[in-house]
Amino acid sequence: MIAKITLILKDFNDQLNKVNNVEQLEEIKQQFTGKSSPLNEILKMMKDADATTKQELGKAANEARAKIANKLNLKLDVFNREILNRKLLNDKIDVSKPGTDFSFGTKHPLNLVIEEISDIFTEIGYEMINGTEVELDLYNFQNLNLPLGHPARDMQDTFYINEETVMRTHCTNMTSRMLSKLAQEQSGETKNLAAISYGNVYRRDDDDATHSHQFMQIDGFAVGPKISFANLKWVLKYMCKRLFNDSVNIRLRPSYFPFTEPSVEVDVSCFKCNGAGCALCKQSGWIEILGSGMINQQVLELNGLDPEKITGLAFGIGIERIAMLKFGVTNIRAFYENNVKFLDQFKFYGE
Ligand SMILES: [Zn+2]
Repeated sequence: MIAKITLILKDFNDQLNKVNNVEQLEEIKQQFTGKSSPLNEILKMMKDADATTKQELGKAANEARAKIANKLNLKLDVFNREILNRKLLNDKIDVSKPGTDFSFGTKHPLNLVIEEISDIFTEIGYEMINGTEVELDLYNFQNLNLPLGHPARDMQDTFYINEETVMRTHCTNMTSRMLSKLAQEQSGETKNLAAISYGNVYRRDDDDATHSHQFMQIDGFAVGPKISFANLKWVLKYMCKRLFNDSVNIRLRPSYFPFTEPSVEVDVSCFKCNGAGCALCKQSGWIEILGSGMINQQVLELNGLDPEKITGLAFGIGIERIAMLKFGVTNIRAFYENNVKFLDQFKFYGE
């Protein structure tokens, strides 16, 4: 029996020497270590042998099994190393090959405008606030001199969540909130407060090239004991010069907004033709850019402030309108379509 084990080992060694690849190695592994391997056959046959023989045979068989396993592993290592070396030899790096281009994202043009306007105003002491888009009718309308049933509510077709709650139709809701807060905090002395808020606003508008049911606004206001119309005019002119170029001028036209009195529409002299007349300004030399005015005394009162002690200026800017003018975009929908080719054009803006 011991001699048989020796023969099996010899047979294994002979076959192992002939093995040329991993597949063949796997085959002899099956043959010599599997259930019906010759070693197992011998162990099965010795179940009737005496104890001493069993012990000797068992020991010899285990030793043979360990040798076989060891040699199989060593051979497998050799093959694996060969495979790796072959791979390394073939995987040469061609440093002259062009690399893969990284694609960097861009800031959205609307964000570029928001950042620019917020820079302009924060530099002159305005606070930047973001606000709630789902707003109480109270702050969106009533406190802004638009009581229930007021005809001017029709100017802003509104999405109602319920009777008391709306999708805000303008960022002016934050003016109302800030003024109410100021009224609660104020004790005795009247302080200055200036802030701009920005974000999405919603109107039940039919979408077309220049209208969208959702768009973005920046709304600003400043209140204090001595805020005058002259301050308003300075702020608007300053903003336009920073936003377009230093040589632009502004023109104010009387208008009506429920929350300001007096109210004005603001035109900027065409920054493209310097007022000579071109397609952008429709040959008029002027471009309408925003609405503004002095905060209506009613609004101050409705928010708990005393119009005898405090006055304020306010303005509202459509971000899309400014972006369309600045970047020469003709369709408002381009801002919402997330077309990478369109957005890529703004990659190096401001650099
Ligand atoms: Zn022009």
